[in-house]
Order: sequence, then C-alpha cells, then structure tokens
Amino acid sequence: MKNKLSTRLTPLQIYKLLPKTNCKLCGHTCMSFAIKLLQREVTLEQCTPLFNDPKYAENLKQLQELIAPLLSAMQTLIQIDEDKCIGCGNCVIACPANVAIEPAVAKGINPRTTDVVFTVEDGKIKMLNLDKCRRNPPHRLNCNICEIVCYSEAIKVIA
Ligand code: SF4
Ligand code: SF4
Ligand code: SF4
Repeated sequence: MKNKLSTRLTPLQIYKLLPKTNCKLCGHTCMSFAIKLLQREVTLEQCTPLFNDPKYAENLKQLQELIAPLLSAMQTLIQIDEDKCIGCGNCVIACPANVAIEPAVAKGINPRTTDVVFTVEDGKIKMLNLDKCRRNPPHRLNCNICEIVCYSEAIKVIA
C-alpha cells in the first residue's frame, strides 16, 4: 500500500536531483532508487556519491528538503503519549517486530538489545527504532497490535 504522501512527490522529481550516473553503488539504477526512496524502501544515505562528492552538495540540500515530508511521516507513524503510559510492557511483548528481533520478549522479558522497536525504561515506554515497525517497508503490514494491547491508550498508530 502506498503512503498517501507519495502521491504528492513523483519519482521524476527525485530522479532529477540524483547524480543520474547509474553507478549502482546503492544496488539500483538512479530511477529505481528514486522510486524506492519514495516508497521508503531505501534511505537517501544509501546514495553515497550524493554525500561524498561536493559537486552534488546543492542537489543533496534540495533532495533533503524534498523528502522531508516523507521522513516526518515516518517519525509520526506511531504516536506515544508518555504521560498515559503505565509501563505495563504489553506493547513490547506483543509487537511482532520486537519478538522477531528478540524472541525472549514474547515470554515477557524486557529486551536486552536496543535493536527492537521499543522497550520499557524507568516505567515508561521508550521508542528505539520506529523504522523497524512492520508497517514500514518491506513488510508494510497493517499492524496495530501495540495500539490494541495498550489499555492506557498511550499508543496511536497514525500512518
Ligand atoms: S548510488 Fe546514487 S548515483 Fe549511484 S545509482 Fe544509486 S542513486 Fe544513482
Ligand atoms: S504497529 Fe505492529 S509492528 Fe509496529 S510497533 Fe506496533 S505492534 Fe510493532
Ligand atoms: S502497552 Fe501502553 S501502557 Fe503499557 S507499556 Fe506500552 S505504551 Fe505503556
């Protein structure tokens, strides 16, 4: 399912600002990279020439401005109201992404790694890696388990 914001931007707008060398250092052609960037399947940083070659500095600046709405959509994918959180940990142990990253979490053990989506710290939920939420590519699952299991209504799935 495409993000609504992706309809405002076109791959061509992004492509025009990429180096257009098709060097494939990112693993794709420039046009394919533009499409994947729009669908949040790659990050701008994966186009290393853009960052390493000063001649692309202005293009980089423009690209960062262009894709800012996409990044902000990602940051607000899930909203957490810390004041409402009672630190029960339901979301931490129910999140399929958390469990896949650290299976022991399913037994109610707080994650020992910081690689998970979120954990509970000092009695409050702490977001660690929102990019690992399975609503993101490549999974694009219509998951909102964390929201469902949070009886305090501290989690809201936004996008
Ligand atoms: S690394 Fe950048 S310049 Fe090279 S193919 Fe990918 S998008 Fe194009
Ligand atoms: S939406 Fe699903 S995958 Fe994403 S954080 Fe919540 S439970 Fe985890
Ligand atoms: S389920 Fe809700 S109350 Fe419990 S830790 Fe998660 S956010 Fe906090």
